Amino acid sequence: SVDANVIALKAHADREQVLVILYDVTYLRQVEQMQLDFVGNVSHELKTPVTAISGFAETLLAGAKDDPATLEQFLTIIHDESTRLTQLITDILTLSRPSDAPAKHTAVDLAGLVKQALTSLAEPIAEKALTVDVAIPETLTIQSDDVKLSQVVRNLLNNAVFYNREQGTVTVTATTADHQLTLKVADTGIGIATDDQQRIFQRFYRVDKARSRHNGGTGLGLAIVAEMVQQLGGDIDLHSQVGVGTTFTVTLPLA
Ligand code: ADP
Repeated sequence: SVDANVIALKAHADREQVLVILYDVTYLRQVEQMQLDFVGNVSHELKTPVTAISGFAETLLAGAKDDPATLEQFLTIIHDESTRLTQLITDILTLSRPSDAPAKHTAVDLAGLVKQALTSLAEPIAEKALTVDVAIPETLTIQSDDVKLSQVVRNLLNNAVFYNREQGTVTVTATTADHQLTLKVADTGIGIATDDQQRIFQRFYRVDKARSRHNGGTGLGLAIVAEMVQQLGGDIDLHSQVGVGTTFTVTLPLA
C-alpha cells in the first residue's frame, strides 16, 4: 500500500507544479495489522479463563458449594484457570517488552539451565513415563544471556514433554563448533505437519487449540522462543514428521 503527499507548488504565476511524494507503507501497515491482531487475540485469550473463573465461582455461590464433590471439582477448575491466566499474562508481558535492550553476555551454565527446566517438568515427565536423555558437556560454559536462553530451553522442553507420547523420549544435545552453539531438543511425539511448521512460531497459533489449552498452553511459547533466539542473534529450525516426532535446532553465535 502507498501513502501520498501532494504538495501544490506555485512555481510560476502561470504554471502550477505538483510535487507528489510516495511512501511504500506496506510494511508499516503489516506491522500495524499484526499489532491489532495481537491485541484482539490477547483480549480473547484473557477472557476465556476469566469467564470460566467467574462462571464456576457464581455457580458455587448459587448453591453448588453444598455438594463436596462439586465444590472440589469447581475449585480445581478455578485454580487451573487462574494458573493459566497468570502464565498468559507473563507470556504477554515477555513479548511486549521492548526488544532493543542489548542481550547480556555472562557465563551461562547450559547444562544447569536444562537441569532446572527438567526439574520443573518432573511431574508430567513421570506421568507420561518419558525417558530424558541429556548430552551436554558439563564443562560447556557459554557467554550468553541466561534469562533469554532459559526461556528458549524451558519453552522447547515444555513442548517436547507435552506433545510427546506415553513412554516417549526427550533428547537434548548441545555442541559447539566454529564459534557457534547448536542446541537440539528432540521428541517422539505427535509431530507437526509441513503446512503448520512455519505458522507455529506465530503468536497464538496452535495446531490443535483444545489440546494446547488442556496442556495449559498459552499459544505463545514458540513466539517467545523465536523472539529470544532473534535477540540473541541466532536461528531456529525444525524437522518434524507427523506421528514420529519433532526436533528443534537452535544455533547461536558464540562471542
Ligand atoms: P502452546 O502453548 O500451544 O504449546 P507454542 O507456541 O509453544 O504454544 O506452540 C504452538 C503450537 O505448535 C502448539 O499448540 C502445537 O500445536 C505445536 N507444537 C509446538 N511444539 C510442538 C512439539 N514439540 N510437537 C508437536 N507440536 C508442537
